[in-house]
Amino acid sequence: MGKVLLGKSGMAVSKIGFGGIPIMRIGEDEAINVIRRAIDLGIDWIDTARGYSDSEEKIGKAIKGLPRESIRIFSKAPGKTPEKLKEQLETSLEKLDCGYLDMYQFHLVRSPADWEAMKKNGTLDLLKEMKSKGLIKHIGASAHHIEAALALLDDEFIEVLQWPFNFIMEAPGLEVMGKCREKNTGLIAMKPFGGGQLDNARVCIRYLMQYPGVAPDPGMMTIEQVEEVVGLANLPSQLSIKDKAEIKKLKTELGTHFCRMCEYCMPCEHGVKITTLMRIDSFIKRLSVEQVVSESMKEAVESVTSCVECGACETKCPYDLAIMQQIKQAAQRYQQFVEENS
Ligand code: SF4
Ligand code: SF4
Repeated sequence: MGKVLLGKSGMAVSKIGFGGIPIMRIGEDEAINVIRRAIDLGIDWIDTARGYSDSEEKIGKAIKGLPRESIRIFSKAPGKTPEKLKEQLETSLEKLDCGYLDMYQFHLVRSPADWEAMKKNGTLDLLKEMKSKGLIKHIGASAHHIEAALALLDDEFIEVLQWPFNFIMEAPGLEVMGKCREKNTGLIAMKPFGGGQLDNARVCIRYLMQYPGVAPDPGMMTIEQVEEVVGLANLPSQLSIKDKAEIKKLKTELGTHFCRMCEYCMPCEHGVKITTLMRIDSFIKRLSVEQVVSESMKEAVESVTSCVECGACETKCPYDLAIMQQIKQAAQRYQQFVEENS
């Protein structure tokens, strides 16, 4: 498989990585087989997170016995203080049990203010120290908000950024990609399938393959998915006329109900957890049953009952989504899922 250079980190990685979310939903042996098939087919980096349930443990077991330098392991954690992040990094190292991590990332930096606070309170210094000790090789970050992403890209210590990039979220994706190039920061395209909202693997992968220097890490949980994605990544990088037509069609169809997670609609004065509700289908598709039916998720979904239909959220949504209708439908699908899985 061809390689992508992750900017100033100097890491040349396979064009496609292995995203570690969906393996939370399958058994350990199955997960190990899927990961090993991905490695056999040329995928040489895996991205996971402290927050992905048992994903780190499964990955650690799958790579046991392989030459350590043959596969790059990236993980991340949400700690916003050095104490918390240190504890999370130590747990990641223990669960992955692979000696060192090729990259550790600040998971979901929410705003420039968040990032400033993390620099001031020593959270960035902690990863610099861990890097100097050789426990991690590189420092990265992930973000969902453009302001946070741009602030991170202004920082010389962030070697690689993870950003949600797919053809529905094209404009912010291109903006972030442009700044990554300018700053020589590596770019990992997370959520290439729109967090589970886009089903057409062919156009999702082919869309991103047209951009040199962008490395997507689709989540995969079957050997068939791995083989399909690797096959697509190995095709010539130019989009065909058919692909372009399909992307245009999907953009038109999905544009009317695809939540970009920009959070402009938040907060709701009545306490409705709009963005959680808007992502219910994605959670059901990607997370483990235990995570989906957790008390915190149930509580968030129940917040839909506080909606007084004031419409304030819809006036703030730049994509004109029918939020009031979508959150109610999402809550119904969630209830159905809970009933089917209890
Ligand atoms: S319509 Fe409902 S969810 Fe939207 S802002 Fe008003 S109360 Fe909140
Ligand atoms: S509903 Fe609209 S405003 Fe709210 S997060 Fe989604 S896209 Fe953004």
